[in-house]
Amino acid sequence: MRQKPNALKIFEALDGRITFTEDQQEKYENFKKGYQSEIWADKRFEKYGWLIIKSLTFHLDGEYACQIDTIIITGDYIFLYEIKWYSKKATDRGKTIQYYSGDEDNPNGPEFKHPREQLKEATEKFKRLMWQLGIKKTLRTYVMFTHPDFVLYNMEEWSLDLVFHSEVESHIEELASTTLRPDDESYHIYNLLMAENLDTSETMPSVPKYNYASTRKVVKCPECNGVIEEVPKNRRKLKCPCCGKLVLINDIAKKALEDYEVLFKETPTPTQLYNWCGGIFNRMRLYKLFYSNKQKE
Ligand SMILES: [Zn+2]
Repeated sequence: MRQKPNALKIFEALDGRITFTEDQQEKYENFKKGYQSEIWADKRFEKYGWLIIKSLTFHLDGEYACQIDTIIITGDYIFLYEIKWYSKKATDRGKTIQYYSGDEDNPNGPEFKHPREQLKEATEKFKRLMWQLGIKKTLRTYVMFTHPDFVLYNMEEWSLDLVFHSEVESHIEELASTTLRPDDESYHIYNLLMAENLDTSETMPSVPKYNYASTRKVVKCPECNGVIEEVPKNRRKLKCPCCGKLVLINDIAKKALEDYEVLFKETPTPTQLYNWCGGIFNRMRLYKLFYSNKQKE
């Protein structure tokens, strides 16, 4: 399973409990899209029984270096993938990508660093990590665009390092037919790299600052993460007002507990959990659900 980045977990737990700034909202959307895109790619790669590292965040000399979305280790290569969920028309400007504004007379929209450039920087850092760990393998790197609606105009020369949605299946099939199965050394490399994995995304400056007092005391839907204002007292299920799905009340309480743990890195006492849920649950119900078993142990 691919782990959600810590920063995304915090954003999700804060969603509906604090008001995000525009920048924070944008960052949150990017995290969600990135994660969705990586899961999409995982499903394609998994068919072949490869050794896959689903997100590696590593540090060099104690400093955050970078995060690589997907790493595949075969008998003869290490593949690095930068995975993108871009969904609009865009044009390739060499070192940048520019989105179409939607206006034919004024087509130039926002411009940002080309993912190829991001991947180049990440690859340089990854090579340093390999050197430090004594890993010797040939590297191959690709940017994968996973959204079917993404179009990139004006590409420079043969951009064979860019894999588009329609090419993903054939790209992966080619990989399967031209690379060697993982061997003992591949597993050794996998273990070396995994030991370096340290997710510190929650310390990024774009992640909102918060404390207990600054958060709204509400409960949320385990399916869609929407705020639920009312919980019927004597029922087991309710229809979520945001997504319309039938959800178990116990699952709503469980989500409140998990969100508390994500945000404050500790398990709440029964009273803390009761207050955290805005008093929406019966105290006994919460107690029975989470604490009565622990007492018996
Ligand atoms: Zn919902």
